[in-house]
Amino acid sequence: MYIILEGKCSNCGLCADVCPVEAISPIGIYRIKAELCISCGLCQESCPSEAIAITDSG
Ligand code: SF4
Ligand code: SF4
Repeated sequence: MYIILEGKCSNCGLCADVCPVEAISPIGIYRIKAELCISCGLCQESCPSEAIAITDSG
């Protein structure tokens, strides 16, 4: 699954803009809703801060 690394994220919002299923919510801090994410990878490609990582768990 894809996750946003809080310490690296600059809250620019690009990932939320490109996500085709609106799985990234900017409420407070940017987070990916795992139940909505289709693992397309667009958010990771768009992130200028390399703040989006893939994790095996879940
Ligand atoms: S991997 Fe795709 S579906 Fe999942 S949060 Fe990123 S842009 Fe959205
Ligand atoms: S694109 Fe990267 S830096 Fe910008 S809000 Fe998303 S995770 Fe944070």
